Amino acid sequence: MEIRLAAPLQRNSIVDGEGIRAVVWTQGCTHNCLGCHNPETHDFGGGFLVDIEDLKEEIKSLNEETGVTLSGGDPFCQMAECREIAKFCHECGLNVWCYTGYTYERLMAMSNKNKDVLPFLEEIDVLVDGPFILQEKSFDVKFRGSKNQRVIDVKESLKNNKVVEVKKYQYEENGTPEIRKEIGIYI
Ligand code: SF4
Repeated sequence: MEIRLAAPLQRNSIVDGEGIRAVVWTQGCTHNCLGCHNPETHDFGGGFLVDIEDLKEEIKSLNEETGVTLSGGDPFCQMAECREIAKFCHECGLNVWCYTGYTYERLMAMSNKNKDVLPFLEEIDVLVDGPFILQEKSFDVKFRGSKNQRVIDVKESLKNNKVVEVKKYQYEENGTPEIRKEIGIYI
């Protein structure tokens, strides 16, 4: 099985989720968010094809990283492939974050018709959901670009049949106490 990527596996990222992470940059996205910081990843004919078995070998050799982030592009444009990678990451003891331009609710609606949605979601620990909205752009929200995007605990959300956000990253005006402290606002 092959996956279309925008870039080689990135190591040692500290901005694409918690801890030190490797990032799989998928190629292809349909959302066309105004102000997208990765427009070169939209074209489904762009980037390059990689054998997933080769990518697994690279993931197996990670030693600094505690997790892998699927980003792009939109990983939900290559669900079966990304599920295979996420499953392997879990087998290696690595946690999995995933960024998508779809909202969680939209993915659940899509899952009624697309059999690949739920199996992929079940292999994700944390989902950062929703399109980037330029008017909502903020530096106060950690690990995402705009306030509408949520950092979602996928296992809890699936169990409770509703969106359960990771509390410490939940957006409130001026941020959560932890985020306020991190960015130096003590009000
Ligand atoms: S979902 Fe992400 S990659 Fe796709 S257009 Fe929006 S910001 Fe860009």
